[in-house]
Amino acid sequence: MPGSFLETPVEYLKGVGPARAEILKAELQIFTFGELLSFFPYRYIDRSKIVKISEIKDDGSYIQIRGKIVNVLSTGALHSKRVIATVTDSSGELDLIWFQGAKWIIDKLKTGTEYIIFGKPSWFKGRLNIAHPELEIPGDQPVPLSEIIRPLYNSTEKLKSKRFDSKGISKLIKTLLLSEKFHMPENLTPGIISELKLIDRQVAFVNIHFPASHEILARSRARLKFEELFYIQLRLLRQKFIRVNKQSGLTFASVGKNVNDFYHHHLQFEMTNAQKRVIKDIRSDLGSGKQMNRLLQGDVGSGKTLVALMTMLIALDNNFQACMMAPTEILANQHFQNISRMLSGLDVTIKLLTGSTKQSDRKEISEGLQNGTVNILIGTHALIEENVRFNNLGLVVIDEQHRFGVAQRARLWEKNVITPHILVMTATPIPRTLAMTLYGDLDISVIDEMPPGRKPVVTRHVFESKRGQVFDFIRQTIGQLNQVYIVYPLIKESETLDLKNLLEGYEIIKSQFPDPAYSIGMVHGKMKQKEKDREMTRFLNRETQIMVATTVIEVGVDIPNASVMVIENAERFGLSQLHQLRGRVGRGSDQAYCILMTGDKLTNDARKRIQTMVRTHDGFEIAETDLKLRGPGDMEGTQQSGLLNLKIADIVRDEKILKYARNMAVAIIKDDPELEKPENSILARHLIHINKSMENWGLIS
Ligand code: ADP
Ligand code: MG
Repeated sequence: MPGSFLETPVEYLKGVGPARAEILKAELQIFTFGELLSFFPYRYIDRSKIVKISEIKDDGSYIQIRGKIVNVLSTGALHSKRVIATVTDSSGELDLIWFQGAKWIIDKLKTGTEYIIFGKPSWFKGRLNIAHPELEIPGDQPVPLSEIIRPLYNSTEKLKSKRFDSKGISKLIKTLLLSEKFHMPENLTPGIISELKLIDRQVAFVNIHFPASHEILARSRARLKFEELFYIQLRLLRQKFIRVNKQSGLTFASVGKNVNDFYHHHLQFEMTNAQKRVIKDIRSDLGSGKQMNRLLQGDVGSGKTLVALMTMLIALDNNFQACMMAPTEILANQHFQNISRMLSGLDVTIKLLTGSTKQSDRKEISEGLQNGTVNILIGTHALIEENVRFNNLGLVVIDEQHRFGVAQRARLWEKNVITPHILVMTATPIPRTLAMTLYGDLDISVIDEMPPGRKPVVTRHVFESKRGQVFDFIRQTIGQLNQVYIVYPLIKESETLDLKNLLEGYEIIKSQFPDPAYSIGMVHGKMKQKEKDREMTRFLNRETQIMVATTVIEVGVDIPNASVMVIENAERFGLSQLHQLRGRVGRGSDQAYCILMTGDKLTNDARKRIQTMVRTHDGFEIAETDLKLRGPGDMEGTQQSGLLNLKIADIVRDEKILKYARNMAVAIIKDDPELEKPENSILARHLIHINKSMENWGLIS
């Protein structure tokens, strides 16, 4: 049976065994031969290159030298014995050091003999040395798999302690590749392979580990990257096809009284063109008879709520109920109040359901939902509790999507026999490449235009040493009856330390802005939700003038009178987070300011982040820069998707390959959506294989 070799448990590999296999499973999630073969090197060393000792750079990279051992010395007591061998080439000398296996190595080292020495040099007390180098005598018999370009594999301390260092891993993989049974079945069609001039899969697997040349290595990498990205796209597009064609959706055929009434008589302003365009997208989805699954991206303040509201009214006009879910109670509250206000005068019943809704109110809401008298329900995750049942739920709006887990969202889909339409709103701008990879099965709309008359937030970088000026500016701001946020970083690894910083900061602020002339509030992640909400409400009601906070305030509460945001230790924040925070000010009519305070010394990356913030307000530009500086794994909302566990592709650097992969997948699904043509059976089979391993991920990413 083909493939059984690849599925063989890794403990059966010669030199592994059950005990060491446990380490491979625990540390690298490698269970089978196939998975071991898919553990790709992260770098390569060109072993045809010999460096002169005098030209060694102190940059932490592996190098290879060729030289004679002139002296061998062993020092230390029995158990801390070490061996030091001095090597020279024509240009200089360095020491080779072994801290372990001294006795064994000493017998092997021969003075006067020339070796090829491979390792990572470092400086110690003014002398260059290489610890635990690899030695070879030039002209040793050639190996069956070329090791001129040597692979380097990631390892961990645990792995290394079981002899699974880079070299150990490489040895195991070599055993597999040299096995008679080794075979990598092709998983792309001849059509794709010839159109994109890809190399054979088996050839790619051999050469990704043991490249015969730089050229074939490059082609192997390209082939495997393509394969990885292509199957992600194919999988997403298949899911979308099933959703759109196999599952029928509710049809909202018309817009009616509520939409017209609201639009013509209640809306206080003209919609932006972007808002109109998005609503048009949504209307055509809702009328299509297919379930809508749309991601709405729009920068903070771009007016997503209005789009949600209009969409909900369309649902109502078609005799369906709608609900809207927000990540925190205070946000749910704010949506409830805004939407109630905007819809006052219309015959629409709106209810709020959160963790603090009283039992008696719950009962009434529950009845109203079931008999259909409640039209719109707004709330927190309390909405997805099992006992919340609707009469006829037609639309689910989810605000600030990245705050919800996959499983939580999946539960909402089940609240009607036919899956309701879904509109997911996010203010986290997701760069196109990432969106393509993560949300390939969602339709995406973007609001790329701000409502008119909005003054951009003026952003300034201020060094710690000029703190006094910032305090003056805060006094001035409060003097003009505006309010101020002061934000401190709170980063997980050093939570207690950060909390201490925050409390110290709070004391300093208090001493600068004393009672009773000033009053100061504080929110942080260690507080209970109720306390946080109370503090935010006090700030909203202008009972406090300064809000000392951590990033808990980053998600969407609207306080138009807050016009200044000071971000302490701004160098410690990610770009997206800075952008999100800045979005909390500039919501009123007054000119808003964002002050980024940093220490006097900045790393290059930190400087780039700060400069980007000062230069631009464009969320997408900021997200692109962020992606480049941090890599995709750090983007908010991407960890939980399980999709970014890429083995070889890099969605930032491999944007071009991603486009090829995307286009190819689109063309194939368009031509043969069920993958039932004989030539596509190879794709169908591999997709089933992939789906098996991803079974737990729901319909939506
Ligand atoms: P976000 O996209 O961050 O959720 P909101 O929906 O809260 O943004 O809108 C921000 C503010 O802009 C609100 O006060 C809203 O009433 C206002 N707004 C939305 N659309 C327009 C528009 N077309 N013209 C003027 N103001 C608008
Ligand atoms: Mg919002």
